[in-house]
Amino acid sequence: SAMEVVLKKIRELSDKDHRDPFMVGDLRVLASRHQAFCQALPRVSPFYAVKCNSSPWVLRVLAALGTGFDCASQVELEQVLGLGVAPSRIIYAHPCKPVSHLQYAARHGVQLLTFDSEEELTKVAQHHPGARLVLRLWTEDSQSLIRLSTKFGASLELCGHLLKSARDLGLAVVGASFHVGSGCQNPHSFAQAIADCRRVFEMGRGVGHDMSLLDIGGGFPGVEGSEPEFEEMARVINAALAQDFPEGTGIEVIAEPGRFYAAPVCVAAVNIIAKKAVLQPGRTRSGCSESGGHRKLLYYLNEGHYGTFRIFLRDHVPRMPIVVKELCSKPALFPCILYGPTCDAFDTFFNKEVQLPELDVGDWLIFPSMGAYSSVMSSTFNGFPPATICYMMGPELRYLKRAQGSELGPG
Ligand code: PLP
Repeated sequence: SAMEVVLKKIRELSDKDHRDPFMVGDLRVLASRHQAFCQALPRVSPFYAVKCNSSPWVLRVLAALGTGFDCASQVELEQVLGLGVAPSRIIYAHPCKPVSHLQYAARHGVQLLTFDSEEELTKVAQHHPGARLVLRLWTEDSQSLIRLSTKFGASLELCGHLLKSARDLGLAVVGASFHVGSGCQNPHSFAQAIADCRRVFEMGRGVGHDMSLLDIGGGFPGVEGSEPEFEEMARVINAALAQDFPEGTGIEVIAEPGRFYAAPVCVAAVNIIAKKAVLQPGRTRSGCSESGGHRKLLYYLNEGHYGTFRIFLRDHVPRMPIVVKELCSKPALFPCILYGPTCDAFDTFFNKEVQLPELDVGDWLIFPSMGAYSSVMSSTFNGFPPATICYMMGPELRYLKRAQGSELGPG
């Protein structure tokens, strides 16, 4: 597994001074996530959200597994089309597109596009009149880790007007979509949004659109053990689909999962490059020093907010690292702050303290489930390169290469 490879590499580096951060990705995880997704949501075809992890390895494996793709820009479209994926397996799911990207989609036969405003319709009518449009709805996403509806989504009240405008411009609206926010905490947001989509379908049909596609977006959990569990979410979604879009009515249902597929693929390893102990007044149950003060530890790691860990501050919930050090069975825990390597004080992992044992410069911390919104969001701010990443795959995936005739490259 990726974890075993990470631990092996850490052992190899134990007598070296170069302990740069690194990630290992196990591409086989994509196949098991795909199976889990299709099993739990048998009516829903996944269109993987490329933005989440756009590594060519990840995309190749998913293309071979047969997923569709949700692209947000010309570069993402180029990447996916470059793998030989048919344009019909792509949705350009950004409601506010630059004209040149829209023209690119039109030239390359990518027809499914989302929209949520009249201005976008005007652009589409001019630059991509043959598009099959999907109206993105506003959703209640206040309980999601990352909200999206503050920026995107038309309210139900506006939908009637947008559907008429599209018709008057000669454009075809074929369905409705939504995104309940990334890291959705409330499965009933899906049920509400699906019910809203049904109303949009009725409105669309009422003005002459042939409504046949429902896109339930992303928002599924990525990290193992997160609440609510994926299976619970799937139960709510299946029940809502059965109620509002019963089988046999010819509706195609797709989703745009990102984290769900990508997060568990990668494991990251970071090294402590500096440390400070701060004595604060007051006693706590753990971390009491002999002088009665409250000992707080500041760990400076060689990766952080400006590298692979940018998503951590957005996600709010601290993700505890695995400490790679032989410690006694119940080590004393101290309130700790994890800082990244740059000169910016904002460069922290979490906006709160976490409880960790006393560690030293040179020790390693491992973060599992780091495949989503990690390297895609990293920068080289202050001259610190983000963690290097190496993907591995097993013989199962080479079989896919033969079966699908798709080029997976070396394994
Ligand atoms: N679809 C769209 C339009 C998005 O904006 C996002 C994430 O921002 C996703 C899908 C993927 O979401 P998630 O990773 O939560 O599944």
